[in-house]
Amino acid sequence: MRLQNTVALHADEATASFASRLAAANGLPSIAELLMDAELSMAEFLKGDQETIKTLAALGGVTFADLTRQAFVPSGVSTYRCMGQQFGMYNLLRGRSRICPACFRGDAGPKLTPDTMLRAYGRILWALASARVCPVHKMVLVSAPEDTVQHEFLDTWSLWLPEIGEGDLDHLVVEGGLYEEHVARWLTGDLPDGWASNFPIDALGAACEMLGISQVYGKNATLGGLTEAELAVATSAGFQLLDAGPIEITTYFERLRCDPGKPQDRPQARYGRIYDWLKRGVGDGFELEPL
Ligand SMILES: [Zn+2]
Repeated sequence: MRLQNTVALHADEATASFASRLAAANGLPSIAELLMDAELSMAEFLKGDQETIKTLAALGGVTFADLTRQAFVPSGVSTYRCMGQQFGMYNLLRGRSRICPACFRGDAGPKLTPDTMLRAYGRILWALASARVCPVHKMVLVSAPEDTVQHEFLDTWSLWLPEIGEGDLDHLVVEGGLYEEHVARWLTGDLPDGWASNFPIDALGAACEMLGISQVYGKNATLGGLTEAELAVATSAGFQLLDAGPIEITTYFERLRCDPGKPQDRPQARYGRIYDWLKRGVGDGFELEPL
C-alpha cells in the first residue's frame, strides 16, 4: 500500500516533517489529510501511536523502526522520546516549525519553487528549544513570520518562499552554534570527546544556556530579557566552558565566588542565578549530576 510518490527519509529528519513532505508529494495539503485518507487520525499520530506510525511507514516506503525513532513520542506526563533520548516538553518547540533559511535553500536547489521545496526537510535539531543557530551556516533558526497550522512543515513554509529565497529571513551569528554542532554530531551517532558528552542532549542545552548567560551577560541576567541571537551566543559560550570539563567549570565558579562583593554576601548573591538554578531548578535534576 505504498503511495505512488514517496520521499526519502533523512537520518536527521523529524517524523512530522517526513509526513508533511509525503503528503505534499501526493498532492495533499496536510498531514491531517494524508492520515484521514488512510483512516488514521492526527491526534493518534501526535500521541506517537505505533499502529499509525507503522501505516505511515508502509505508505511512505520507509522502515517503521526509523520512523518511530525519529518521532517525538510522549513518554510521560511532560516528556517525549526521540532518537533514544528523553526530552522535557518545555525544552521542545513541538508543533512550531523553525528552519535555517540557508539549509532550506540548499535542500530545495538553486530555483526555489513549490516543486523544489518538497526537498526541504525539518531537522530534529530544529525542534530543540536550546538550539538557536544552524551549526552549518551559523544562521539563526527562524519561525514563520506569522503563526500557521502546527506540525505542518511544508504548509507553513510554502507561504514564505519569496522571503526565504531572497534571504530576508537570514541572520548570521558567527559566535553561535557549538551546542548545535554537538547535537548534530550526536544525531549521526558520533559522540564527540569533550566533557559535554556526559550529559543527555536535553539537559546539556539547559546547562549551556544557564552557564553561558552568566558568563556573557552577567550572573544576574535572565533568559527572558535576551534575544534569540544573544541567547545563541550565550549557549555557545556555555557549551565551550562545560565541554572543557570540571576543572574549568570549578575555576569559573571560584571566580564568581571571589568577585568583589560585600563580605556578608550569601552564595545566592555571589553566584547569581546559577545558584538558584542548581539548587532548586532544572539544574538539580539527576541528568545534570556530573555538574
Ligand atoms: Zn543551515
